[in-house]
Amino acid sequence: MAKNKIIIIGGGASGLVAGIVAARNGAKVTILERKDRIGKKILATGNGRCNLTNMNCLPDNFHGGNNEFIKSILDQFNVNKTLKFFTELGIYPVNLNGKVYPNSLQANSVLDVIRFELERLKVIIDCNTEVVSIEKNKNFIVYTKDNKKYYGNKIILATGGKSSPDLGSNGSGFNIAKSLGHTIKNPIPSLVQLKSNAAFLKQLKGVKINGLAKIVDENNNLMREEYGEILFTDYGISGPPILQISRIASEYIYKNKTVFVDIDFFNQLSYEELDQLLVNRFTSMPYKIIQDNFIGLINKRLINIIIKETGISLNKKSSDIKKEERHKLVNILKQFRLKITGTNQWNQSQVTAGGVITNEINYDLESKQMKNIYLTGEIIDVDGDCGGYNLQWSWSTGAIAGLKASK
Ligand SMILES: Cc1cc2nc3c(=O)[nH]c(=O)nc-3n(C[C@H](O)[C@H](O)[C@H](O)COP(=O)(O)OP(=O)(O)OC[C@H]3O[C@@H](n4cnc5c(N)ncnc54)[C@H](O)[C@@H]3O)c2cc1C
Repeated sequence: MAKNKIIIIGGGASGLVAGIVAARNGAKVTILERKDRIGKKILATGNGRCNLTNMNCLPDNFHGGNNEFIKSILDQFNVNKTLKFFTELGIYPVNLNGKVYPNSLQANSVLDVIRFELERLKVIIDCNTEVVSIEKNKNFIVYTKDNKKYYGNKIILATGGKSSPDLGSNGSGFNIAKSLGHTIKNPIPSLVQLKSNAAFLKQLKGVKINGLAKIVDENNNLMREEYGEILFTDYGISGPPILQISRIASEYIYKNKTVFVDIDFFNQLSYEELDQLLVNRFTSMPYKIIQDNFIGLINKRLINIIIKETGISLNKKSSDIKKEERHKLVNILKQFRLKITGTNQWNQSQVTAGGVITNEINYDLESKQMKNIYLTGEIIDVDGDCGGYNLQWSWSTGAIAGLKASK
């Protein structure tokens, strides 16, 4: 029987795994990559350490496409299969609080073992080859920017989304998918820093605090909260909890809707407990002016900003602080509000929300719009939380599509 000739468009996480699985199953595989080398984004993952999956990977960690679709993909090629796949390639995985990394803590070791396997399987890799369109005849003709043509009977579209275009994914895959009859849900940046034009941010640049970041709408509805280290920058806020809640902010911003981030600097204390803490400080150090009293309680650079927001004079003695003033202080320490005005741009975002809608894709990742076309990874309207979920999505979709396309 003639071999399947599979053309994989995009040499990123999902395309490379698809290539390995398809070639292992006897297909003749060619990977076309627009950058000068494959897997550039893999090298940047997990701050160069590659958080390759998460032991607590559930459909709830993913957003966008329909839940049944997500669940099916994660069931077909789950975390255990992923760990087995990488272990067999030579990676010794290490579990750091649920996040899985290669024990080398080097993303390049993940890319290296993938590359070695592709070489062993004689997968053809053509870099500096940007695909611009696909034509369906009896089989497929793939056209590149430099006027080359490739022929195959199956295509895997693994071009990624629009995030971090310097690493390769420039959104061109969406145009190709559209030309094949697919609907694209408006792509927006996710896992991205948030912007605010609060005047005090200039003074807070570089300040890091631990706090609970809550994303709320204009009616004060809480949409998600995440605890961790929050970094203030001159343009807004960053840090793991901010990236985690950024998807919701991004959706609101792109719909021109108002959204806020409320920071609770004392989430371990109730309002009453924090009030009592202030009472104790004010009575034990009554002689201190309020700004000195707050030293040791919160980051020094936050003190004047917090007190000014309440309208209390910075030089007021602790003993003179009235109950209502103390309550104002408690309120602001528990709910320090920033109006979000935007997100950083695509070059700063780690993941793309939106993309090819899932009800146009079968559970084996074959397109419902055109037979023998498969879609993998971030081009699909599914995005994960921060913590290894997005790579898991890429490995799962890549493995499933590679297997199906090779049959
Ligand atoms: C800085 C950063 C850190 C991250 N860290 C993590 C992490 O630690 N853990 C985690 O789970 N996720 C992480 N992610 C997200 C994760 O890397 C992506 O979700 C995943 O790589 C997506 O895989 P993909 O195959 O869909 O697309 P990509 O990896 O983006 O690969 C797509 C490939 O297709 C190529 N391409 C695009 N268009 C064309 C075309 N027209 N012709 C030819 N080639 C084309 C691109 O050049 C690219 O190489 C991180 C992302 C970034 C940006």
